Amino acid sequence: MKKETICIQAGWQPKKGEPRILPIYQSTTFKYETSEQMGKLFDLEESGYFYTRLQNPTNDFVAEKICQLEGGVAAMLTSSGQAANYYAVFNICEAGDHCIMSSTVYGGTFNLLTVTMKKMGIECTVVDPDASEEELAKAFKDNTKCVLAETIANPALVVLDIEKFARVAHSHNVPLIIDNTFATPINCNPFEWGADIVTHSTTKYMDGHAMTVGGAIVDSGNFDWAKYPDKFPGLCAPDDSYHGVTYTEKFGKAAYITKATVQLMRDLGSIQAPQNAFLLNVGLETLPLRMERHCANAQAVAEYLENHEKVAWVNYPGLKSNKYYELAQKYMPKGTCGVISFGLKGGREAASALMDKLKLAAIVTHVADARTCVLHPASHTHRQMTDEQLVEAGVAPDLIRFSTGIENVEDIIADLEQALAQI
Ligand code: PLP
Repeated sequence: MKKETICIQAGWQPKKGEPRILPIYQSTTFKYETSEQMGKLFDLEESGYFYTRLQNPTNDFVAEKICQLEGGVAAMLTSSGQAANYYAVFNICEAGDHCIMSSTVYGGTFNLLTVTMKKMGIECTVVDPDASEEELAKAFKDNTKCVLAETIANPALVVLDIEKFARVAHSHNVPLIIDNTFATPINCNPFEWGADIVTHSTTKYMDGHAMTVGGAIVDSGNFDWAKYPDKFPGLCAPDDSYHGVTYTEKFGKAAYITKATVQLMRDLGSIQAPQNAFLLNVGLETLPLRMERHCANAQAVAEYLENHEKVAWVNYPGLKSNKYYELAQKYMPKGTCGVISFGLKGGREAASALMDKLKLAAIVTHVADARTCVLHPASHTHRQMTDEQLVEAGVAPDLIRFSTGIENVEDIIADLEQALAQI
């Protein structure tokens, strides 16, 4: 099936007399006939639902749709994008291990890996996504377990050379994890370019209506964990908490997602609420339509801003003048995303003044949904960062993040026009 069809048809497949629309399995628990049946579930001898903290059918039908959209072999939903990135890394890293991350990732991911996971004994080296393969290679250590980066960085809008990152990760025998939130599987499938694991903050375009916080992890099934048993003991050695199950032996290509589900979700519990998964599923149905409009609107807004006398700079990978235009054409020929960043000649103060004058574009923390919204990362999402870290993350202090919605683009531009006229 093509992606437009997957968005509508994949996941829930009703049988005779069943609801046409994905039901919300609003139940914490699931009933069995015999004690033995239930026991087999706890031994991972049989698959089945028993407690929603680990798995819920509504969630799994939606995960299946996302899995197909990304071209993966297994997927799971998480309670947030943060939980998705945390689980994606923690599933293969433990105290004493090391990981590598692009410097331009979302501020929350940056904190997670460099501050919180450091407290858990996992060290992280931050690398420049534009670095050469030789430079990137220097970041690897014997205990490196994975590399993480974003297809399109939030909010720096750096387009990742996924093939370069995949080559260097694989030549050091570790997987590449790509956060594909901004591009969505409609515009880019990182697995086609060598990524091994994909994560999403489904809170963004996938939901698309700013209704639910959520995340997803998808496994391509391509990384051969069993080839490096000493590097990935969590997957390749017996798990004492399941009577000695070895995930790679028992679950093959589903080993990574199975471990994240039955071990991390069991112990850490960041499950997505089935109601949220239901709403996410509704959002996914129109994802291709919305992405097309987001990209067309953002292109028009970027071109408008680029020609405005009060605008100092515009960053949008769809502009021919953009540093990442060629990479964007290669990895995302249909379009990148609806998010633009720009700075005004009046600098940081003018940025705040403009935001106050906008009427249609709302000031919200959120990004990437149907409504146009705006944010000043240095004052908001990234305010914990020093100026040095901001520059390293590609977030200039004057940067305005403009998330172009799917309204009529003439109204979006008129709003900018009236606000710019007042500053
Ligand atoms: N990854 C990216 C690229 C994001 O933009 C965000 C949030 O903005 C996250 C992860 C975290 O997702 P969530 O807010 O759903 O926890």
